[in-house]
Amino acid sequence: MMYSIILPVYNESENIHALYDRLSTVMKNMGKPYEVLFVNDGSIDETQQMLTRIHENDRCIKVINFSRNFGHQMAVTAGLSYCNGEYIAVIDADLQDPPEILPRFFAKLEEGNDVVYAVRTHRKEGMIKRLSYFLFYRILRKVANISIPLDSGDFCVMRRRVVEAINTMPERNRFIRGLRSYVGFTQIGLEYERDARIAGESKYTFRKLMRLAFDGIVSFSYVPLQILTFVGFSFFILSIIGSLATVYFKLFTSVYIPRGFPTTIITILFIGGMNMLSLGIIGEYIGRIYDEVKRRHPYIIESSLGIEKSKD
Ligand code: UDP
Ligand code: MG
Repeated sequence: MMYSIILPVYNESENIHALYDRLSTVMKNMGKPYEVLFVNDGSIDETQQMLTRIHENDRCIKVINFSRNFGHQMAVTAGLSYCNGEYIAVIDADLQDPPEILPRFFAKLEEGNDVVYAVRTHRKEGMIKRLSYFLFYRILRKVANISIPLDSGDFCVMRRRVVEAINTMPERNRFIRGLRSYVGFTQIGLEYERDARIAGESKYTFRKLMRLAFDGIVSFSYVPLQILTFVGFSFFILSIIGSLATVYFKLFTSVYIPRGFPTTIITILFIGGMNMLSLGIIGEYIGRIYDEVKRRHPYIIESSLGIEKSKD
């Protein structure tokens, strides 16, 4: 098997046929054996039936059906574990990443690179979403303890050895584009213009996106914890200076110190707020530690089509 194309799908029935046609054309032209691995992330529309029909007519198409919606990152994780190709591509099923550019990406692998990730030059999405993504990638870049490229999503092609390295990462809260940078090897970015979704709504709800952003930042940086330490320490110093100053004014000057009732309340609220925030941030990390130590299966496969090997 030369090429594996991994496609996470969640309620994409409106896109499947167009996707299948365009992708098959591209892959047939490549002239080497390939597989297309659809990971159906618990879709509740026609997606599963459509994929089954496509699989019956075309054995290059393989399908993994999750028992419920486990999320995009889990779908990609499953795809990476069950693919067989030497060159592996991860793309979105909504045709925002046009399959026609895959040959250009594979050609870069031939040149000796291990990972070719897509860098989005243009997004055809709403203002707020574009702005959020813009900020997120720049914040992540600043705080992450590894260098994660700007504006590159999960769309990429990788050599087998990179995928194997990613597959050995034991963590449950998976931020694939971070893990991909983490494993190293030779990586290069290739620019492309991101199309608009051809049909249907984005399957990433605001909540799912926030979760992804948190996973990205918390899995790859301790900066939120360090900010806490810094802020906490600053307030400690401030309070010491304040106490000393009060004592000084009381004992050695005639400056009137008002009975600062409002100040007291404000201070209590402020410090209380800081405490809550700190606990919240620590909670984010502890929650993730809890997830990791439970060692639960990150996804459950209900059925599959055309998949031979069993993993773990
Ligand atoms: N997706 C998934 N599970 C989810 C959400 C999304 O498998 O819980 C898939 C979706 O079908 C698509 C890809 O992940 O193929 C990217 O999702 P989407 O296009 O909705 O995200 P956006 O492009 O809006 O960030
Ligand atoms: Mg999309």
